Amino acid sequence: MRGRQDEEASFRAFGPRSSGTVLNGENVTHDVSADSVLLVDDDPSLRSLLSWRLGKAGFKVRQAEDGIDGVVKLRDEPPKVIICDLQMPRMSGFEFIGVVRRRFPTIRVIALSGSIPSELPAGTKPDRWFEKRVERLPELVRIVNELARTAPDHIDLPQEVPTPMRVRPGFGGYFMLACTECLRMFMSRSTSGKEAVEGNAVCTHCEACVPFLIESSETT
Ligand SMILES: [Zn+2]
Repeated sequence: MRGRQDEEASFRAFGPRSSGTVLNGENVTHDVSADSVLLVDDDPSLRSLLSWRLGKAGFKVRQAEDGIDGVVKLRDEPPKVIICDLQMPRMSGFEFIGVVRRRFPTIRVIALSGSIPSELPAGTKPDRWFEKRVERLPELVRIVNELARTAPDHIDLPQEVPTPMRVRPGFGGYFMLACTECLRMFMSRSTSGKEAVEGNAVCTHCEACVPFLIESSETT
């Protein structure tokens, strides 16, 4: 194991590098570019202002217009730091942070909010709160810098084995599936319900491809 740790240490010492996914024993290690930020906010003017500021500070910023778009952007490449508004259409900041916490626990999250809620839904606590005020943006850049420095340079994800979800279609061949990316439930329909058959369903929320296996049909 010592060899692997040394390897990991030297991995880190080289600092920012291009991202990629490599198989590493039981986990998939995904390198994260040290300067990558995902900005999730439904206000386009705030997005461009913040992107400009962070870009000037040397960050590579990708933008998402709400939580669902954020899930789609995570599919392309996990960032080091996420800045996230709370009130957004389609998927709120809390739901999005919940998805990030469950799927990418090492990504640092800053929530943009006017006030800190006294009670939070379980598993949605950000690393930092930041009051959304234009005159405080330089301070936000400083916080992003700090979090980007302390976040790990690579993310260990459980190896993704495309295990199809077992489903048992009901009347009309419909069944519910849990999306592996946005973690929401959605309804799909089998085209052949008679025998065990594998297929892929497209999530109606985030358009992820979710494999399923029809066990058997009890409807006759
Ligand atoms: Zn989905």
